[in-house]
Amino acid sequence: MFEKLALVGIGLIGSSIARAARLKGLARTIAISTRKQETLDEARALGLGDVYSLDAAEAVRGADLVILCTPVGAYRAVMEQIAPALEAGAILSDVGSVKQHVAKVLGPLLPPGVHFIPGHPIAGTEHSGPASGFPELFVGRWCVLTPDQGVDAVAVARLTAFWGALGSNVECMSAEHHDLVLAITSHVPHLVAYNIVGTVADLEAATQSEVIKFSASGFRDFTRIAASDPIMWRDIFLTNREAVLEMLGRFLEDLAMLQRMVRVGDGPGLEALFTRTRAIRRSIINAGQETAAADFGRPHAGEKTDPAPIADLMDGGDKA
Ligand code: NAP
Repeated sequence: MFEKLALVGIGLIGSSIARAARLKGLARTIAISTRKQETLDEARALGLGDVYSLDAAEAVRGADLVILCTPVGAYRAVMEQIAPALEAGAILSDVGSVKQHVAKVLGPLLPPGVHFIPGHPIAGTEHSGPASGFPELFVGRWCVLTPDQGVDAVAVARLTAFWGALGSNVECMSAEHHDLVLAITSHVPHLVAYNIVGTVADLEAATQSEVIKFSASGFRDFTRIAASDPIMWRDIFLTNREAVLEMLGRFLEDLAMLQRMVRVGDGPGLEALFTRTRAIRRSIINAGQETAAADFGRPHAGEKTDPAPIADLMDGGDKA
């Protein structure tokens, strides 16, 4: 249990941490800080914390666990604000979807004695804001931690236990490895979704309305992913550029091969590829990272137990 958990940013991820931490009794005090008054008021109305402040430095003062839950692009400004208020011995973590950039931005601003353990819960939805969170978001999902070698092992163990208590499986890896893996499992798929939905958006009006009217599961699934937060995804592509370009290069080579198979009518080749991809889908279901039923990103009946006022839910896929 932590004495004081400070969440800087209280959108989907921050509010889900707040709800789950409260439910599991993981912090004596939960302090919440965000940029806009209206978001702070909403968090207060939802009862997500114990103390609320627009001043991030005030929120983190005396906290033994601080988690940044803002878009990655805001980290530098937030860190400049909170650094003087971080206590020696505190753990500073985050939930950002890219990890090398985070270490590059936050590392040099870190006060001595603060244990810096970047994190990334691979769980999310296409929704944003405090009302969209729910405490089961992290259950059965992975949370990746990317502490540098030499970071206090006890602090890493405490943070691992925290995420474990939220329901996550925790794995430590290098920030570089994280960024490469996530580029192919999350970032490039989002780029593909943004592109295909963008292509439809550019079609002439008559065709576009037909695509929407006759939208089948393929396009519809892409629209869910392409509805993910524009700011968050802008930041991901700006900050994980190299890994995304590396994986995008491979993707484009494979796409060219697929294009050729279609052009030359290579039925056996197409069938062999689709059989392999189907096996990957099955292994994801077997690993418990997805259920067999189509859900278009929304929980299946009985999966969500939080009675909080969440109108409409769903993990960007993880989103990130
Ligand atoms: P969100 O719902 O949009 O919430 C973002 C929060 O950050 C809000 O409290 C917002 O406050 C605050 N914020 C936004 N811009 C800010 C700025 N310039 N300065 C200070 N605060 C700012 O976002 P989210 O989906 O929870 O994502 C938060 C982080 O989680 C991101 O770094 C993302 O990469 C990571 N992540 C997201 C997912 C996902 O599926 N969504 C999954 C895994 C990890 P105001 O409303 O007051 O502006």
